[in-house]
Amino acid sequence: MQTTYNIGILGATGMVGQRFIQLLENHPWFRVTWLAASDRSSGKPYADAVRWKLDTPIPPSVAKLPVSPATPEQNPNGVPEIIFAALDTDIARDLEPRFAAAGCAVISNSSAFRMQADVPLVIPEVNADHLALIPQQNWNAPGKGVQKRGYIVTNPNCSAIGLVLALKPLAERFGLRSVFVSTMQAVSGAGYPGVPSLDILGNVVPFIRNEEEKLEAETRRLLGKLENSQVTPLDARVSAHCNRVAVEDGHTESVSIELASKPTREEILAAWREFQPLRANNLPTAPEQPVEYNPAEDRPQPRLDRMRGRGMAATVGRLRPCSLLDWKFTVLSHNTIRGAAGAALLNAELLASQGKLSPSGKTS
Ligand code: NAP
Repeated sequence: MQTTYNIGILGATGMVGQRFIQLLENHPWFRVTWLAASDRSSGKPYADAVRWKLDTPIPPSVAKLPVSPATPEQNPNGVPEIIFAALDTDIARDLEPRFAAAGCAVISNSSAFRMQADVPLVIPEVNADHLALIPQQNWNAPGKGVQKRGYIVTNPNCSAIGLVLALKPLAERFGLRSVFVSTMQAVSGAGYPGVPSLDILGNVVPFIRNEEEKLEAETRRLLGKLENSQVTPLDARVSAHCNRVAVEDGHTESVSIELASKPTREEILAAWREFQPLRANNLPTAPEQPVEYNPAEDRPQPRLDRMRGRGMAATVGRLRPCSLLDWKFTVLSHNTIRGAAGAALLNAELLASQGKLSPSGKTS
């Protein structure tokens, strides 16, 4: 018997919301039963509300679902107890706590609560132990007594995920002292309709608001230690340059690192190859090899490598000595799969496997 879970999606019509719907089609544990977006979409069947931008059709079971208003209070018949959230940060800051206060597990993509001390910022292969922060959360209004305890769990920024997957095995084995990273980020990372074509075609934009700050802070927190019920960020220097480039999907990052011990090239390759922390967990969306090394001299490339591990692997290449720090390499990951919807889905699978989600029933 397989336990099943009903899922609601907040921001279901956006770039990340669409990926959720695509990734959840035929998922063995989760099924989409409720969708919400802005007032513009509310009340319409999903297929009429969305500008569907993916290369697979809208799943028929979802196409006819109505888009609901995006607050628990406006849904008198209730909302699912598991909410995947893909909202802009300002909207998430208002709406996500309301769903958590209504008793929902909110699996969030937005940056609104990523750095809040009691909210786990998690990549399952990297810091699953940070989920132990959940019981510290209390989203209920003071004075209202004990109510249902919902919570928020977040996944990192789309450029932090690929970087941290590549860094974790090295930090663990060799100690990480400094990171210098320069990103080439896809236009889909800016949501829809995203960057105007006249700004990006034939061009590079060397600025993405708040992105460098997020990449630096989230990297240290993800690689940090949970001790005495709080996360101590990794004591390493991280310097990020973030650029928008005319690529549809897939963030590429040029990385230089300084390590505490001085491993050989073979030892670094072995650390990436042997990094399989979720091997025993049997999570449906987890890639077999979270960090794949591509030995070709001109890889990874977004068009050729972003779908490795069904869009969930980080592809690393061009490992070579660095004349400023110790080593340098290139890492690539899919920004709306591994960097967003797939990351949240994997967080939800991890939570389900730990008994932290409310099931809706069992199917054989
Ligand atoms: P998007 O394409 O702009 O979609 C935004 C979604 O939010 C739409 O469904 C929109 O509904 C809904 N929405 C807007 N205003 C709302 C309101 N007042 N109440 C309820 N819903 C509202 O954005 P996105 O790219 O999917 O990004 C969503 C979140 O994920 C952001 O926080 C982003 O930073 C984060 N993220 C994105 C990526 C990426 O690669 N794109 C990666 C990692 C994280 P309507 O269609 O009705 O307007």
